Amino acid sequence: MTQQQAVRSERERNWAGNYRYGAPEVRHPESVGELQALVRGASCIQALGSGHSFNAIADSTGIQVSLDRMPPVLAIDGQAMTVTVGGGSNYGTLAVALAERGLALANLASLPHISVAGAVATATHGSGDGNANLAAAVVRIVLVDGTGELRTVTRADTPDFAGHVVGMGALGIVTEVTLAVEPAFIVAQHVYRDVEWAQVLADYDAVTGRAYSVSLFTDWSGDTVGQAWFKQRIGDGRTADYPAELLGGRAAAEAVHPLPGVSAVNCTEQLGLPGQWQDRLPHFRMEFMPSAGEEIQSEYLVDRVHAVAAITALRGLSGVITPLLQVAEIRSVAADDLWLSTAGGRDSVAFHFTWFRDQAAVEEVVKVVEAALAPFGARPHWGKVFDADASSLAPLYPRFDDFKALAARLDPEGKFRNAFLQRTVFGR
Ligand SMILES: Cc1cc2nc3c(=O)[nH]c(=O)nc-3n(C[C@H](O)[C@H](O)[C@H](O)COP(=O)(O)OP(=O)(O)OC[C@H]3O[C@@H](n4cnc5c(N)ncnc54)[C@H](O)[C@@H]3O)c2cc1C
Repeated sequence: MTQQQAVRSERERNWAGNYRYGAPEVRHPESVGELQALVRGASCIQALGSGHSFNAIADSTGIQVSLDRMPPVLAIDGQAMTVTVGGGSNYGTLAVALAERGLALANLASLPHISVAGAVATATHGSGDGNANLAAAVVRIVLVDGTGELRTVTRADTPDFAGHVVGMGALGIVTEVTLAVEPAFIVAQHVYRDVEWAQVLADYDAVTGRAYSVSLFTDWSGDTVGQAWFKQRIGDGRTADYPAELLGGRAAAEAVHPLPGVSAVNCTEQLGLPGQWQDRLPHFRMEFMPSAGEEIQSEYLVDRVHAVAAITALRGLSGVITPLLQVAEIRSVAADDLWLSTAGGRDSVAFHFTWFRDQAAVEEVVKVVEAALAPFGARPHWGKVFDADASSLAPLYPRFDDFKALAARLDPEGKFRNAFLQRTVFGR
């Protein structure tokens, strides 16, 4: 079947299965020229990455474009310490290629399966007080804009570069992304069970500052955090040790999955065993299903000065949250300068929720969570389920109107404006 004939016959739904794409066609251009022609001829078109978002962000009433048949791009510049990948590449493949050359990305999300362009477009992040989100590593983007023109934007030379990176597909179809890299490093992962909330809240900064990347997993009930994961970067100057007992909890005697009762076989190596960065920074291994599969996710980022107050507010909602929750995760994200980044301009704490896959119930509970976190200026993860719309999101982003103006410039006919973007960015 040629890409012209490719009517919707695949990936009917997103990864989680909670959203059915409405786009009648999926196209797979095999060259940049073919992609440009496709955009020029379309009235409504949207890039589809690996489909891991939990909402309608990657949908279109016309064409969805997958770049999976474009020629692979992988160019490493050891002098500039950058890597360039194609718009369809995923982090798993990229990480292996970098590691083979003794290089690394500063951070990864919980799973390596997602596409680089899709993750960057939604400000996907991992954890770490000093680690900004994955989009912050971008130094150059090449995209096909709404007129079909190929544009290259760089951090060094493009004045409004910071507006282009977290683009949510609204600015064009990204064909290449260039990321900053660094020398490869070693990480050891230590997991503690039943850490006491009282000790965590007594000095929250000390807990999240203990390791390169820290995640707290909780169901928001009771006096203890279910699991605390410390990803220790060997040789980064932190001197913390990992005794048998920490913060009132005990070191896990065997590898654990964040979800209660699920086998840890899907998870990256724990028990303090040192390994390459790409085998420890994600929670989940590339060759297995990440997380639970049957789930819906939501996430909110607040300025980390409000961390303890926001945690206290969420613990107070346990009666509403916990029954629908598989697990929640608390992470740190360092500030960046990207206009629509959820951590833009503020060091942040991220409150993630893995819900049971009950769409109607999730849509109700996120309203309660959003009301509780509203006093802290919570910004929802663009790729997950949330209730807020453009009118409530605009005040949270100082460059919101500038982003809309940039989108109007790059996409004058509004080809990339799907229903999700109308609701959350452009206003109905
Ligand atoms: C199991 C699981 C775990 C997750 N863990 C994390 C986590 O640890 N941290 C976190 O922050 N998020 C996490 N997420 C959310 C996920 O990272 C985001 O939803 C991300 O956007 C998914 O990337 P994707 O390639 O699947 O993008 P898609 O869902 O396919 O698309 C997302 C957006 O990117 C745009 N896009 C995709 N490709 C291009 C392109 N070439 N050019 C222009 N725009 C493009 C789409 O148009 C759309 O706007 C997780 C999701 C799942 C399912």
